[in-house]
Amino acid sequence: MGHVDTGATAVISDDTRRLVARLAAADWVVAFTGAGVSAESGVPTFRGTDGIWKKFKPEELASMDAFMRNPSLVWEWYAHRKRVIAGIQPNPGHYALVRMEEVFPRFALITQNIDNLHRRAGSRSVHELHGNIERNYCVSCGKPYGNEELLRQSETPKCPACGGWIRPDVVWFGELLPEDQWNASVRAAESADVFLSIGTSNVVYPAASLPLLAKRRGAFLAEINAEVTPLTDTADVFLQGSSGVILPDLVASVVAARESAERQGTPTHT
Ligand SMILES: [Zn+2]
Repeated sequence: MGHVDTGATAVISDDTRRLVARLAAADWVVAFTGAGVSAESGVPTFRGTDGIWKKFKPEELASMDAFMRNPSLVWEWYAHRKRVIAGIQPNPGHYALVRMEEVFPRFALITQNIDNLHRRAGSRSVHELHGNIERNYCVSCGKPYGNEELLRQSETPKCPACGGWIRPDVVWFGELLPEDQWNASVRAAESADVFLSIGTSNVVYPAASLPLLAKRRGAFLAEINAEVTPLTDTADVFLQGSSGVILPDLVASVVAARESAERQGTPTHT
């Protein structure tokens, strides 16, 4: 990219300006995140790139059928992923979303990511549509287990309470989304003044229906993504780029706009 010296410190697009104005006046904001946000931290896709797992497709390992057929194979795959993810850190996009939780009167974060990076960054109001790889549960009695105790064992873990196999608490192929997380996400999407779709390709349903639902219910729909997606034409604004760069600037602008509106005691609607 060439550098144009205009004397200005930054060029703000019309879309950014419109989004800042909406966020400055918003009471209820929902952020919806996908794989792009994790990728910016270096979370791999675990699709045919690393070592011995090269010969497996996720579809062949991430299902209850696969687990019951070969628990140790599936557990080892997840133990590998758990260790890789444990060594990865949240990025500035994650931290900007933590800041948003403090800025807006009501805020919810809906994520399709299972890596727990939003909670590790400090977000509290998180709805996890596809589970969380740092949690596990017994397939027989449902008892929950953390990672640390299980990753120390060399064997595929079994539940001390009932002897059942312990599986990762992630949504596998052919499984429904966790009902409480889904219902909370639908309620948030229906109520939002502004809905931010961030780093998601918007092709995995039913999650991908949430931005559309929000817009139908009157939310201002903003998309932040590196690439154009099936949602882009529907979105009110599209900010192209990485969330780790766009979100921190966005939050800073919104905070400044809200503070200035507060000082003047005037509404921030444009
Ligand atoms: Zn059990």
